[in-house]
Amino acid sequence: MNRELFDRARLSIPGGVNSPVRAYGSVGGTPRFLVSAKGPLVFDADGRDYVDLVCSWGPALLGHAHPSVVAAVQEAAARGLSFGASTPAETELAELILRRVSAGGVEPLDRVRLVSTGTEATMTAIRLARGFTGRDLVVKFAGHYHGHSDGLLAEAGSGIATLAMPGSAGVPAPIAAQTLVLPYNDRAALDAAFDAHPGRIAAIIVEAAAANMGVVPPAPGYNAFLSETAHREGALLILDEVLTGFRVGPAGWWGFENSDEVGYEPDIVTFGKVVGGGMPLAALAGRADVLDMLAPLGPVYQAGTLSGNPVAVAAGLATLRLADDAVYAAVDTAAARVAAAADAALTSAGVPHTVQHAGSLFSVVFSPSPASDYDEVRAQESWRYPPFFHAMLDAGVSLPPSVFEAWFLSAAHDEAALERIEAALPAAARAAAEA
Ligand code: PMP
Repeated sequence: MNRELFDRARLSIPGGVNSPVRAYGSVGGTPRFLVSAKGPLVFDADGRDYVDLVCSWGPALLGHAHPSVVAAVQEAAARGLSFGASTPAETELAELILRRVSAGGVEPLDRVRLVSTGTEATMTAIRLARGFTGRDLVVKFAGHYHGHSDGLLAEAGSGIATLAMPGSAGVPAPIAAQTLVLPYNDRAALDAAFDAHPGRIAAIIVEAAAANMGVVPPAPGYNAFLSETAHREGALLILDEVLTGFRVGPAGWWGFENSDEVGYEPDIVTFGKVVGGGMPLAALAGRADVLDMLAPLGPVYQAGTLSGNPVAVAAGLATLRLADDAVYAAVDTAAARVAAAADAALTSAGVPHTVQHAGSLFSVVFSPSPASDYDEVRAQESWRYPPFFHAMLDAGVSLPPSVFEAWFLSAAHDEAALERIEAALPAAARAAAEA
């Protein structure tokens, strides 16, 4: 059935998919066509179920189709799908986002604008940084993914990494030239970039913890260093928490990293995924003087027919209200257990590997020592992943179909789901060993 559905899809949809990594290009085989999902499970068109370690690439923090979130969405839908006008719930969500992102008494964010995708959030953040500083250049890091806007695809992670593409065709060279791509976790490279382009860099954009080339956490103090450097040079720090925000903890990676003592404050933070609870919703937030540059108050334009969509806002509000300390503790425990089981299985099978963590996010790098940047990630024995992935899939566990992606757990991954993963890992590790 999956095969027939894929063949049919390819006749009307490029590659049969609406987002490239879904095509199983780097792992081979036929993508599973999903028809429903519940808790930790997804169900395909053949009626098979899989324990899901993709979680919609992050949003499903509470597990799939949480009854309270579904009820909130149904109630909102019954009141109207889209108004193209302000709603009371938008302000509630904005206030909740601002309130949650705090640490040590510091609330670094004053304003929020809601958009529909992470791509829009980062694209608008860049425009805002340029409008605010009057400068054009942007620093990004190799292997980091910030969505598919023109200027941010150079040496990007996620599907660009999976397909081993340098960037995207169709991006005019003068636009690509406005992005400086630097190695991650390399302080000297950042200093050199600012020395080479004095007064010309508008912003540094960075994944709060890199998770689109597999998981590569920032070295201790690195994000604070980015912040200090940006601020000393008159540039802004855009912390991209589309993936990490409200997933690694109640206040995102920033809250997680600054929980002991606040070491830095970003100027703009982008959110997506969990903040929309599985519906198309994302956000950018930041300092009032920066965010108030947006139209209608200021000269930087951004808009959206579906921005702040009432059904999406209902899903986001319901999700964030449910995502309490117990939820994060459950996700942490489940993630630690799966990471430990993967580590143990690969060790027994003699597969050179490192499990890399950023809070509850983790992934396996098929290399004996940790990878701290994109070059090191790319040097791994990535051919071991496809047989590992397929052995897990055959045993009813759905991993991300690329070695360059994080594994996602949810609070709904219960004992039965975790046991199924643990039972599947030894054979998958042997398949990786034989590759
Ligand atoms: N930034 C980061 C860190 C992401 O992980 C992603 C998506 N994986 C994006 C931006 C883009 O978000 P979207 O796919 O919603 O456009």
